[in-house]
Amino acid sequence: MKIKAAVLREFKKPVSIEEIELAPPKANEVLVKTAYTGYCHSDYNFIIGAFKFPIPLVLGHEASGVVEAVGPGVTSVKKGDHVVAAWMCPCGHCPECTSGKGHICRTSHEIHAAGTLMDKTSRLTDAKGNRLNHQTFVSGFAEYMVIPELGAIKIRDDMPLDQACFLGCCVPTGFGAVYNAAAVKPGDSVAIWGMGGIGLNVVRGAKLRSANPIIGIDLEGSKEAIAREFGATHFINSSKKDPVPIVQELTGGGAKFCFEAIGDPGAITQASWALGLGGQLTQIGLTPQEAMTGLPLAYTPIHCKSVVGTLYGNVRTHEDIPTLADMAMKGDFRLDKLISKKFKIEEINEVGDAMEKRQIIGRWICAWD
Ligand SMILES: [Zn+2]
Ligand SMILES: [Zn+2]
Repeated sequence: MKIKAAVLREFKKPVSIEEIELAPPKANEVLVKTAYTGYCHSDYNFIIGAFKFPIPLVLGHEASGVVEAVGPGVTSVKKGDHVVAAWMCPCGHCPECTSGKGHICRTSHEIHAAGTLMDKTSRLTDAKGNRLNHQTFVSGFAEYMVIPELGAIKIRDDMPLDQACFLGCCVPTGFGAVYNAAAVKPGDSVAIWGMGGIGLNVVRGAKLRSANPIIGIDLEGSKEAIAREFGATHFINSSKKDPVPIVQELTGGGAKFCFEAIGDPGAITQASWALGLGGQLTQIGLTPQEAMTGLPLAYTPIHCKSVVGTLYGNVRTHEDIPTLADMAMKGDFRLDKLISKKFKIEEINEVGDAMEKRQIIGRWICAWD
């Protein structure tokens, strides 16, 4: 079928909107009519080539939609089901999956690098008949998606699909970082670098965990209001002030948990300095691939600090995302407040410009209706 999609053909160049061909779902695949697609900071990183996936590529990894058709063998979803597209599809067989770490499924990582679906082929071709790659199983900046059944997460029908797209990336990534990667407890001090979609969900997770204080940090002072609305007890504009001594003062010597949700090496260094004795830095954001460490290494042993990475909030997609949908419907994540703009796919390059200029407060999402 012919569909409209956003294609990344060259790094650091505008994304092109093209009519492309989407092949029908094969065995254990699902055709989904896309409803909404979030523009994540990682999308911007992929476009500028800070983190490279194989191009040409149909972008988008945070999408919701409605099942239109299923391929042979699909049993977990049917036509009409509301789904979130997950960008990790735990294969169930690799050493990581069999040890309960499906969020770092070896097979999924290999498929990401190949730009295909599970059978190592693509369903996407351009107008000239040339193959296009899939973005981490999803390729959600497209009118329709063919995704693995393993990545089609059925959610409750009463959840608005514009909010549901966030369950594909920023909610599990942010909330899961707090609950799974950091195990924050009531009263723990928390500082978060980056008040974008993921950072705000770290704030929500910390708030739901009754952390205190919860310090939101961003280079843009315009993000203070939303940071406080989501649960930050303090806000630091890091373009005006060095956040490290302020975090140390607010936490009585350093935070128990620091989270870095941008992927900025300088922020990661600040977050490490801002940790207290025995503190943990949880690295969420994707830095440029060539970035090397800038951490105060002597203090890792002297202060017994730890630095951990988390991918997708260490969630179990099929089990946890429907639960996150229930929590969202109770208002736990304030997803209605996270949506700050709905754009058309033709505007995607302007959205990238706004992201570069750090003008996006909350999350901007592409509407496909
Ligand atoms: Zn994302
Ligand atoms: Zn696996």
